[in-house]
Amino acid sequence: MLYDIIIIGGGMVGASLASALGDVKLRIGVVEAVAFNHAQQPSYDERTTGLSYGSRRILETIGLWGAVAAQAVPIKKIHISDRGHFGFTRLDSADHGAEAFGYVVENRVLGAALMQRMASSVNVEVLCPATLVDLSVDTDAARATIKWNDGREQTLNARLVVVADGQKSVARERLGISTTQRHYGQSALVTTVTPERGHDHTAYERFTESGPLAVLPLSGQRCAVVWTLRDAQIESVLAQSDTEFLQALQECFGGRLGKLSAPGARRVYPLALQCASEIVRPRAVLIGNAAHTLHPIAAQGFNLGLRDAAALAGVLRETALRNGDPGDSRVLEHYARLRRRDHRSVTAFTDGLVRVFSNDFTPLVLARNAALIAADIVPALKRAIGRRAMGLARHTRTRFQPHQ
Ligand SMILES: Cc1cc2nc3c(=O)[nH]c(=O)nc-3n(C[C@H](O)[C@H](O)[C@H](O)COP(=O)(O)OP(=O)(O)OC[C@H]3O[C@@H](n4cnc5c(N)ncnc54)[C@H](O)[C@@H]3O)c2cc1C
Repeated sequence: MLYDIIIIGGGMVGASLASALGDVKLRIGVVEAVAFNHAQQPSYDERTTGLSYGSRRILETIGLWGAVAAQAVPIKKIHISDRGHFGFTRLDSADHGAEAFGYVVENRVLGAALMQRMASSVNVEVLCPATLVDLSVDTDAARATIKWNDGREQTLNARLVVVADGQKSVARERLGISTTQRHYGQSALVTTVTPERGHDHTAYERFTESGPLAVLPLSGQRCAVVWTLRDAQIESVLAQSDTEFLQALQECFGGRLGKLSAPGARRVYPLALQCASEIVRPRAVLIGNAAHTLHPIAAQGFNLGLRDAAALAGVLRETALRNGDPGDSRVLEHYARLRRRDHRSVTAFTDGLVRVFSNDFTPLVLARNAALIAADIVPALKRAIGRRAMGLARHTRTRFQPHQ
């Protein structure tokens, strides 16, 4: 089977790329191991995603925002605090002339929109449920061996393979691309709660001894909770009854939203920083979590991966218009150059936040509290933080061309 492009992994980033290329004259195959509406789907699961304002613009350009907007809850205010200390910062999107800093969307809502979009694109074929088992590239083509759920094996040839199969990427491993990793000794516990008081479209980020706690606005006055805990704490928190859990959460979060109730199911995600040593090879390119996996402290992972998808779509669109080869090394090197600064900046920013805010060293605690107070008072600093939260900092710009 011959394709122009095969995308390994139809998760949030791979499917976004396929959707962005849905109107380009390229034959595209998307290989996905787990059906999109399956309970075990690892990308479109119970989580919610904080989308930056910049990501909204990309989704608008791809033509996906319309399918997501009605269920996207705007973040109009951000409240950052340090548990047990004095500093805090408040940001209001109105001060930045924007309707919202970003939006909270349930991953399953994103999955349904992406699925529908790919299904309606005549040039995109979704091969699912099928798992990549082998991959090789040479000067002429990429060759992927996939295994269907019924045991059948099939070989796909393409001019370019896009590796988008997530943190534990088999495709990256088959290409022999190594990664560097930093384990934080932390896991994220994810759930939902309903607070007594309305969330007023505020996202709370609270730094605690174990790591950051994010409480994000959801529909129906619910809030999404992403609570970073030390690995050693996880088992006991999972064993707690709902009442014990709510009590512990309330103690950590405080009384800002009144009494917390109605906790949803608790799920756990081990956290690490992982970066691939290369993101392009002849006829191969890595995007999303396969290229860089981040701590969710600043809600940047998908936003960064979506910018990968948008930038790559822009480069491939230009190449298709001049009947170029999408797997040409010069095309891929150009993509890598476009993304270098954003990757470095977001990775360093996120890793720095984790280290600074998961530390009890007294001078550091004083410094970060002073920084939070300064950020609350100094307008220029506040504006800079706001623009980063909105995903509008200079390094985040992509050259994605809108649909005609
Ligand atoms: C707790 C938590 C909260 C987060 N919150 C946010 C947030 O608020 N904002 C934000 O921007 N980011 C957030 N993130 C990060 C975000 O979830 C990831 O960046 C995003 O899921 C990456 O998408 P991806 O498509 O690259 O990889 P994945 O989501 O991992 O998708 C990979 C896909 O590849 C498929 N696959 C895997 N192996 C194979 C194979 N061999 N063959 C075929 N298919 C395969 C999988 O089934 C999956 O569908 C959060 C992460 C965590 C853990």
